[in-house]
Amino acid sequence: MPQTQCGLCGHRDGCLPYAKSMIEGEAANKCIPGGQPVADALAQLLNRPHLKAEQSIWPIQSDGRPQRMKAIIREDECIGCTKCISACPVDAIIGSGKLMHTVLTDLCTGCELCIPPCPVDCIDLVEDREPLPTIAERNNEQQQLRQRYYAHIQREEQRSIHRKGPIVRAEIDTDLFSQFSHWLEEVPSIARVEQAVKTVASVDAKTTIELAKLRTQIKKLEKQLNIRADQQKQTQLEQLQLRLNQILEV
Ligand code: SF4
Ligand code: SF4
Ligand code: SF4
Repeated sequence: MPQTQCGLCGHRDGCLPYAKSMIEGEAANKCIPGGQPVADALAQLLNRPHLKAEQSIWPIQSDGRPQRMKAIIREDECIGCTKCISACPVDAIIGSGKLMHTVLTDLCTGCELCIPPCPVDCIDLVEDREPLPTIAERNNEQQQLRQRYYAHIQREEQRSIHRKGPIVRAEIDTDLFSQFSHWLEEVPSIARVEQAVKTVASVDAKTTIELAKLRTQIKKLEKQLNIRADQQKQTQLEQLQLRLNQILEV
């Protein structure tokens, strides 16, 4: 797979989920940047009939794949919101809060994922005029892109926990990538420890909600008992206070 992680195959999280889905039976002609060469190679690999590749909006190059594109930021219009950094699956954009951002052109795959989040619409796509890569260069590029995507997932996971900067894409299915990263030596290993941290965070959120509910119920019962004694409500109040104390002592 091209490893641009663009999601144009319909798999939001990129090439790995599409590969998994193909093994489970999905058609193998949906990788748009890969074009006909990738659709044919997959059909051969999976021993399936050759299908016409899904069409790209870009013209077809001499290697049978759609035109390679690059993103360019109109830097004087950039407001430094950092949204494009979080959106770029291969970390091809550099910049910092309230400072101008720029695309590292060599790393950009033209996946377009940085364009929709930009609030001032200052990212353009231009044709990549560089000579087409050889097979060896393409393999090397794909390897690099895969590594960068795993590093990106790892970083975005951390950010989603610590809430540093905007996160503009839906949460990635980290479990799948974590599993895969342990089988491949060449990609950064995605540690499940972050999932554990997230679980703690979600327990905390649940606890906060439970505490709020308990306090409301306690106040309501206390008011009612101030007006009229009621043994059943008194017992209920004591149970709620017990539960509240248990949570607060944890
Ligand atoms: S490069 Fe192809 S397989 Fe990978 S996400 Fe894009 S469309 Fe899907
Ligand atoms: S800079 Fe934009 S177009 Fe280029 S790889 Fe990153 S998200 Fe894709
Ligand atoms: S999303 Fe647009 S405005 Fe925000 S940092 Fe990126 S290029 Fe600049």
